[in-house]
Amino acid sequence: ATADAIDVSTELLRNWPLPMPGAEGDKEERGHVLVLGGSREMPGAVILAATAALRAGAGKLTVATGASVAQLVASAMPEARVIGLAESEAGGFLPEAIARLDPLADRVNAILIGPGMQDEAAAAELVHGLLGRMQGSDTAVVLDACAMGTLLHAPAGAQPGVAFRFEQPVIITPHCGEMAHLTGMAKPDIVAGPDDPARAAAAEWNAVVALKGARTVIASPSGALWQHEGGNVGLAISGSGDTLAGIIAGLAARGATLEQATCWGVALHARAGERLASRMGVLGYLAREIPDEIPALLESVA
Ligand code: AMP
Ligand code: MG
Repeated sequence: ATADAIDVSTELLRNWPLPMPGAEGDKEERGHVLVLGGSREMPGAVILAATAALRAGAGKLTVATGASVAQLVASAMPEARVIGLAESEAGGFLPEAIARLDPLADRVNAILIGPGMQDEAAAAELVHGLLGRMQGSDTAVVLDACAMGTLLHAPAGAQPGVAFRFEQPVIITPHCGEMAHLTGMAKPDIVAGPDDPARAAAAEWNAVVALKGARTVIASPSGALWQHEGGNVGLAISGSGDTLAGIIAGLAARGATLEQATCWGVALHARAGERLASRMGVLGYLAREIPDEIPALLESVA
């Protein structure tokens, strides 16, 4: 199953250049990212993801997070417009958030949903609500962490027994444990053979699936399959996946296709880990240090 996966090599990336803003470009042209997530217990995840999106070259940033942590996020991220959303006891956003975000969802170039969210059912309701209003929109959508649970919670009015499928392709970024949760497969089986589950999931869900690990497999609904092996165990650290999701959203906001943003994002994230390990050591660098490596990597074509 591995034989037909395309390596995300330096050569592949060089032949697949990212869209570049013109020298006269403004921040709108560089792309507007909305990061939606965070909760009382995990306010930092949106900061990591949003920083990564800007480091990946996006020009404009809005963060929508729990009202209880919005001020904290705003003071940690002076670059962001910060929207505070009403929260439930469980730490999820209330349904009124959909109407609040609706006018923004079409105006931004990419939306990342999920980092630091806590209530899977509430996240699913929000995602279904937003996606339902975004049909035909060319805003790229990246779902990570808790927001991937959208696949397990049918939208209101769905026909029972009919498998859920995104109307428009989205990007999802599960690690093997999350993939097990989403598919019902046993995690060891996914670890032993991630290619087929990734490919099947991409086709079934209509999603670009980045199935993460020391080797990451990227499957497209078109049937294309890529693989990337690199980085180091230092990347197995709290917040690491939030930075990957942010990088991917930033690249998508710049105008990369979903597949391109995902392949480039996976490679940049791994190479950031390699640069940090060579300077600091393999263990002990922080997720918040990953985004800082991205601008130089973008210049050197990873
Ligand atoms: P998450 O589990 O969501 O925080 O994501 C972890 C990130 O670190 C993913 O991008 C993984 O591909 C990467 N990662 C985790 N463990 C390793 C490893 N041993 N070697 C290389 N990359 C890793
Ligand atoms: Mg994660």
